[in-house]
Amino acid sequence: MPLSLNQHLLPGRNFVGGEWCSAADDRTVAVVDPATEEAFATAPDSGAADALRAVDAAHAAFPAWRKTPAKQRAQIIKRWNDLVVSHQEDLGRLISSEQGKPLAEAKGEVLYAASYIEWFAEEATRADGDVIAAPVQGRRMLALREPVGVIAAITPWNFPAAMIARKIAPALAAGCTVVCKPAEDTPLTSLALVKLAQEAGVPPGVLNIVTASRDRAAEVVDVWLDDARVRKITFTGSTPVGKHLARRSAGTLKKLSLELGGNAPFIVFDDADLDAAVDGLMAAKFRNGGQTCVSPNRIYVQDKVHDAFVDKLAARVGALVVGPATDPAAQIGPMINARAVDKIERHVQDALSRGARVVVGGQRVRNAQCTGPNYYAPTVLVNADASMQCSCEETFGPVAPVTRFDTEADVVEAANATPFGLAAYFYSNDVRRIWRLADALETGIVGVNEGALAAEAAPFGGVKDSGYGREGSRHGLDEYMHIKYVCQGQLD
Ligand code: ADP
Repeated sequence: MPLSLNQHLLPGRNFVGGEWCSAADDRTVAVVDPATEEAFATAPDSGAADALRAVDAAHAAFPAWRKTPAKQRAQIIKRWNDLVVSHQEDLGRLISSEQGKPLAEAKGEVLYAASYIEWFAEEATRADGDVIAAPVQGRRMLALREPVGVIAAITPWNFPAAMIARKIAPALAAGCTVVCKPAEDTPLTSLALVKLAQEAGVPPGVLNIVTASRDRAAEVVDVWLDDARVRKITFTGSTPVGKHLARRSAGTLKKLSLELGGNAPFIVFDDADLDAAVDGLMAAKFRNGGQTCVSPNRIYVQDKVHDAFVDKLAARVGALVVGPATDPAAQIGPMINARAVDKIERHVQDALSRGARVVVGGQRVRNAQCTGPNYYAPTVLVNADASMQCSCEETFGPVAPVTRFDTEADVVEAANATPFGLAAYFYSNDVRRIWRLADALETGIVGVNEGALAAEAAPFGGVKDSGYGREGSRHGLDEYMHIKYVCQGQLD
């Protein structure tokens, strides 16, 4: 184990109905450090029986939690935020150990996660409804906002803390109770966050978490998909799994929020500030080693500035330090697992076989610092085109494929020629072009002269095959509530 961990935050068990418990059949799954592929902890490998117990607990806890005044719920959530912030170092170490992020970045994720918890603690007290001007005499008409009920949260590994916070904080704020299954690669951070939620005073049964191996993920989630008591699924992950959840939850018509894969274009026009564009691309592309759903996947640079941009970019990318979380200088950690590095390698080989050229990087890294098999060098490719795998699906790694373009019309068509629609970025100093592009790009998020977009106050989510629903902002709370219309008549 590379970093020392606070044992207090390693319960190593599920949390159901206010009790820490093993899987019903006592199975466990190893948690692996992606830097070395060494197992350093275990988590329960839960199955259907555990999933059902979690729903039973969440269902039983719902009536009281729903009735708890919003201000009281907010105070508990605020305490949770305070505990997360005060455990920034411990949680950062956990994230680095199981996910591979450099420690500084992991500690940044902890504060980022906390910002959502704090935001929704505040929003809890503002879940107001409307008094409607009645069109008929003698009536009083109201739109009331109510929690949907038990919600199931299924999270990915790339932001083990932030994904939990973005889903569970608004659910608790709305008055919902929760069952959660975190990603198999990163169960420890989510268990630690739940431990802190327990210490903050979240009542038994309100927040339940069960961990599982990849082999048993579907067994757990299928129980929730089929159980009519679960009224909503909130999911971040791949598009095929998101579509499966949508199909299978149709039987009980659950509300859904799906934050799925992206294929973000990053466009640099010849009127852009090139240095700002390089800064923006570095921030957006290489955060978490490129393992983010808003990571620029296709970089389009206008003809006139293409070569200058690539030179500046290559210099910056070539200077990135690759290493394990234990190295304070590391900027790019290991990829999450062998499957992820294999995919990156496949994408680069495919691009090269179709005419792309490596400017920097382009291979795995293994040396005295990077002793494990999961490191990939930060890479810039040029001559990328739409036929390549790296242009069609998320590479989810530190690879920046650059395509040269000629006109605005061409690049908008190319940017939108994908089933995905999560984020898009462009750099331009032409104010009319800025508004034209902001309208024309078919994504849920657009960055204009900005590479770092995510913030708790902003609505995060996609369109098309990137899913639906929004996380963060005041809209994030709506996902966990429905509107009840109450009409009182005979008032005259
Ligand atoms: P990734 O490829 O990034 O791991 P996935 O969509 O496969 O993305 O995983 C995201 C989350 O969905 C994880 O918590 C994972 O365990 C869960 N998951 C994967 N497959 C299924 C499935 N068939 N049913 C329900 N959940 C699943």
